[in-house]
Amino acid sequence: MNLKNKKKIAFLYFEPFKQSRYKIDYKDTNDFWSTKNFGSAVLRDVLLKSNIIADVCLPENAHYYDIVLVSLTSHFDVFAFVNATRKNKNWQNRKFKVYAGGFGCQNINMLKEYIDYAFFGRAENEIVDMLEKRGDYEHQSFLRLNKIENVYINQVNLPYSEDVKINFNHLETYKESRLGCPNKCFYCHYTFTRKNISNGRFIYNEFDGASDEIEWCKADLYNPLKPHIITAIDGYSQRLRYSMNRRISDNSLIDFFIEVSAKTECSGLGIKLYNIVGLEGEDESDYYSFIDLCTKLDGRLKKPLTITLQNTPFNPSPVTPMGYSPIKINDYSDYKKNNRIFEGVNIKVQHSLYMDSPYSHFSACLALRYTDKYNTLFNTISFDSKFKALNATDKYDYILNNYDINDIVREYDVTETLPTWYLNTYISNDRIKKLRLKQKEWLNNMGSTNIDENRINELKDMITLLNIVGGKNSISKSKQKAVKYDFYMNNL
Ligand code: SF4
Repeated sequence: MNLKNKKKIAFLYFEPFKQSRYKIDYKDTNDFWSTKNFGSAVLRDVLLKSNIIADVCLPENAHYYDIVLVSLTSHFDVFAFVNATRKNKNWQNRKFKVYAGGFGCQNINMLKEYIDYAFFGRAENEIVDMLEKRGDYEHQSFLRLNKIENVYINQVNLPYSEDVKINFNHLETYKESRLGCPNKCFYCHYTFTRKNISNGRFIYNEFDGASDEIEWCKADLYNPLKPHIITAIDGYSQRLRYSMNRRISDNSLIDFFIEVSAKTECSGLGIKLYNIVGLEGEDESDYYSFIDLCTKLDGRLKKPLTITLQNTPFNPSPVTPMGYSPIKINDYSDYKKNNRIFEGVNIKVQHSLYMDSPYSHFSACLALRYTDKYNTLFNTISFDSKFKALNATDKYDYILNNYDINDIVREYDVTETLPTWYLNTYISNDRIKKLRLKQKEWLNNMGSTNIDENRINELKDMITLLNIVGGKNSISKSKQKAVKYDFYMNNL
């Protein structure tokens, strides 16, 4: 088939389940590029260089094309994609062929009715040949959805070498300078699916001029002119981090905060600190050991730091050692109610007010561990209007009362078949299983945190008080707060 000279290919534009952080009009196909979807932008660029034009289409006009390309940017996108296409009568009896790919193309078991082919991993060197040969195409990373069999997540040897337009309205371009990560945190899908090719610097400030995204809490990567840092601990305590091969010690974390506060040339520094909660082996002593660490910064910082803890619940990513781990679905709404964690001299630590609900955490895990056994549940979440009208708490209660979710949340033994058994990456599955056993061994050997019960109780009291009256520098002007404070003190 000759793809040139005809407009027969389109990227599919569909609305996500949760509204994107970009201001986008989902009826305006030009806005597709405002999503800054780098993977699609690369493929478009490759196609253009072969004189093949790819449009953008909505589900309702997909039937005007021969080939529709679906970019799944996160594993959670499967709900949004099926929801957007099921409404379209043409989709079920389609003549066009649907190809899926992207970083979120992980568990595709639930997509058998909705797509024809999937390509796993980087496709810039294969896309033209793949689309020209259609169903006759053969590649170890190419899967026909009518038969699920072993596939390999494709790698490239070099970052994409061209400047790529990622936001057409504002003429923004991006050039890839690194791929993968040399660290191997046991939960990280990115590092286990992208071979590392880098320019040696662990810093991302690709899309946001005011922030530096610094990996591994390394103060030497901080640019003193930037008032914001984004970085990640990904586990409250040293023992949790070490058990997952994330070797950031408590002392190096303390040094990081002290150094960036000394180094900054801004009047103060905001730090967004990503963290993973609900990890295997985690208990309340891990949380309080982090708060204890924050109290040790009191009076030691040169410029004010505001640390906002952004918690994400653990998801068991396929082809990672922790793809076998059990999942704890917890309600963290108390983090929102009592979001102030610590306030001292030049330091404020707080929870972000955004936190996944148990329902949204469960849905993400369902996308990763879906098998046909969960087809009815998947359809209920995706399409049932009565279910969709419930609030998040009632949705999760409904699921618990009507479904056995054990195969979604339980631990998998390394001798068992995972729901995503067909995925293979550049590290063999046997090696990944060995790393999983290593993680369990490390977790057992780490023992518990050093914090004792009395200190935990002191910290609990401190947080309660802080959330009633404010920090050291706050003067309560509110009568209501004063009443709460008196009540608290009288009941101590
Ligand atoms: S989570 Fe770990 S492995 Fe993944 S990108 Fe960050 S540092 Fe690298």
